[in-house]
Amino acid sequence: MNNKPIIAVIGAGLGGAAAGALLQQAGYPTKVYEQAPAFSRLGAGIHLGPNVMKVMRRIGIEDKLNTMGSHPDHWFSRNGLTGEYQSRIPLGDFAREHYGAAYITVHRGDLHELMVSTLDQENLFFDKRLVDVDDQGGKVRMTFADGTTEEADLVIGADGVNSQIREKLLGSEAPIYSGWVAHRAIISAEKLKAYDLDFEACVKWWSEDRHMMVYFVTGDEKEYYYVTGVPEPEWNHGTSFVDSSQEEMREAFKGYHPTVQALIDCTETVTKWPLLERNPLPLWHDNRLVLLGDACHPMKPHMAQGAAMAIEDAAMLVRCLEEVGANHYREAFELYRTNRFERASRVQKVSHDNTWLRQDEDPAWVFGYDVFETPLKAPEAV
Ligand code: FAD
Repeated sequence: MNNKPIIAVIGAGLGGAAAGALLQQAGYPTKVYEQAPAFSRLGAGIHLGPNVMKVMRRIGIEDKLNTMGSHPDHWFSRNGLTGEYQSRIPLGDFAREHYGAAYITVHRGDLHELMVSTLDQENLFFDKRLVDVDDQGGKVRMTFADGTTEEADLVIGADGVNSQIREKLLGSEAPIYSGWVAHRAIISAEKLKAYDLDFEACVKWWSEDRHMMVYFVTGDEKEYYYVTGVPEPEWNHGTSFVDSSQEEMREAFKGYHPTVQALIDCTETVTKWPLLERNPLPLWHDNRLVLLGDACHPMKPHMAQGAAMAIEDAAMLVRCLEEVGANHYREAFELYRTNRFERASRVQKVSHDNTWLRQDEDPAWVFGYDVFETPLKAPEAV
């Protein structure tokens, strides 16, 4: 008989889906509750570095992702105004050889759909917005917006930047608006053929206070994507994103290189997102509740490692439960925190400063990390 604890994962985002898949694979009876009624193919891309691809290998979807994604040979950083190269970070074969897996860029919706498909569909519940959680010592009782309640032995808060579980642990506190927004647009590569310009597979165009990151999101390179970082002093829209426009993009990137102007000219739909952060949290877990991903360390996306940290968290959490034995969940949660706090906080800081790969540097501490092999540090005795 399976005497493993019943685990509830709140949120089926990239972190929650990874946690659910790895827990189910390890034999934990796991239910995943997601507030959205369904997921749609939102117009966005995402980088998956070798550090994340090692987790995807364990989940069993590395090959599919390698087919699905674009495989840039380099990450280029270029001066947005002159086009001059500031860094050329080798990826491609170099990444496979030196970091142990590929570096790919994919459509976020395609990645998410694939990850969610790895979950036991009978234990994945949509339209389930958690509104309250009561850690009763022996069990946790969860209440959902539809009035239903459920129980679990352990609850993982993978519920994003406005996490209910974080609120339960630390009280209500809005995330910090960073003062930066991101514009996101997907462009048909067909349109770019009209230009006598080189559209590189992974390039970040920089100037003093803003940037535009550009890459393909499909293996056939039919969809090209840009995501920006642009200062905007306030965000008063009250929604997670708003529509932007070609005019706004032209204004924001006035004087930028002709390649960037071509991308703006080819833009049909562009959205604008506030970039939110929190300072590192003093508490990641309490009794039967534990946090991962944006619920505990939301960051500016300027290292393209936010989801990567959520997915690494999920893998480390399952590793620690297995290492300690899930019935000693408090020790397992503390081992997890001890082995994630420093790395996640460092990535938060570098993302905040927006210095990652701006000049040539060695990215091995990020890309070479293997969450399954890294030696575990013991928590400090208290
Ligand atoms: P989320 O993805 O936010 O998922 C949380 C889930 O929980 C959602 O599905 C939500 O609906 C659900 N939920 C919330 N509240 C409840 C509730 N009460 N009850 C039930 N369900 C609930 N990261 C990268 O690694 N690479 C990139 O290239 C990259 N680019 C980015 C570009 C932009 C513009 C932005 C904004 C972010 C980017 N990120 C990137 C960061 C990445 O998107 C996040 O860090 C990542 O999505 C965090 O995953 P998560 O699972 O922790 O949270």
